[in-house]
Amino acid sequence: MDLSLTVHVFGLAKTEADGSVNYLEERAIECPYCGEYIGVLIDCSVARQTYVEDCQVCCCPIVLDVQVYGEGEMAIEVRRENG
Ligand SMILES: [Zn+2]
Repeated sequence: MDLSLTVHVFGLAKTEADGSVNYLEERAIECPYCGEYIGVLIDCSVARQTYVEDCQVCCCPIVLDVQVYGEGEMAIEVRRENG
């Protein structure tokens, strides 16, 4: 009897036409300070991440709480740094 390993790879990497692997997805989020939509790059190789990105319009620190479920599927929560 074989000892087989089941490996669950949480792999979201997309292989581009040129063979390179792209983990980044661009998403638009609404700034909780000024209400403008700004583009952010989400690293889909990380299932759960929280980080701060400065708004490109008003330069305020936006806290992004990102949860990646599958390829191209993610939930992004944005909030002000001071809660
Ligand atoms: Zn802003």
